[in-house]
Amino acid sequence: MKIKKSGFTLIELLVVITIISMLAGQILPSLSTAREKGRQANCVNNLHQIGLAIEMYYQDYDDYPTWLSILCKGASGIGMNYLGTGKIFLCLTDLNKGNKGHGNPSFPEICDIPLTKVTNSYPSYSPSAFDQNAYTYRNPSVESCSYSYEFAPTHCKWFESSRNPTEIAQADSNSDGVVTWKEAKMWQSMHGYGGQVPIVRCFWHYYNHKQKVLNLAFRDYNVFISDPEWESSSY
Ligand SMILES: [Zn+2]
Repeated sequence: MKIKKSGFTLIELLVVITIISMLAGQILPSLSTAREKGRQANCVNNLHQIGLAIEMYYQDYDDYPTWLSILCKGASGIGMNYLGTGKIFLCLTDLNKGNKGHGNPSFPEICDIPLTKVTNSYPSYSPSAFDQNAYTYRNPSVESCSYSYEFAPTHCKWFESSRNPTEIAQADSNSDGVVTWKEAKMWQSMHGYGGQVPIVRCFWHYYNHKQKVLNLAFRDYNVFISDPEWESSSY
């Protein structure tokens, strides 16, 4: 007479484990995507808040802030109270938590973090390319920022190298012989790109997850997505 089996045999157990792990494999990647979607939503919210603060600053001073960091007040006393906390400057997708700038190694000179951190982060970039004077106009209490500020007062060398002398003269609004990032962006907004010119950008979704770049548009402060080269790929 056979003894009736109870419980599972080893084979049955292995089959069950295999099925469970196959199911888990299908569920887990979508879970991490859901988390990244949440981080992206947080970044969009940050960009909206920064947009509101920029507009408030503009209403009060009839100009754009020199750097994003001056939108909040720090221990140094420099800066304004348009943004209560510097946390708004941190994108959750940024694995460096804003300590290495905005994540686009091509343009370290528009990182809104202390200059010492920028040179350490990008050793291949010549420090002489940085405008020490321009960095004195940022708020030193803000030590980390995940976003690039496209209206920074730093020298915009790529504009000068990609445009003709007439265009460079048009862009150099104060005729000091140097086109800053702000002047370059103002020129673009007047020559065919309109409000779609980005004023603030987050590259971290691109560099950490190969997603599109999130941009805050100049003038209407809409958030739009693009490739790193926004001029040819805005949505
Ligand atoms: Zn982001």
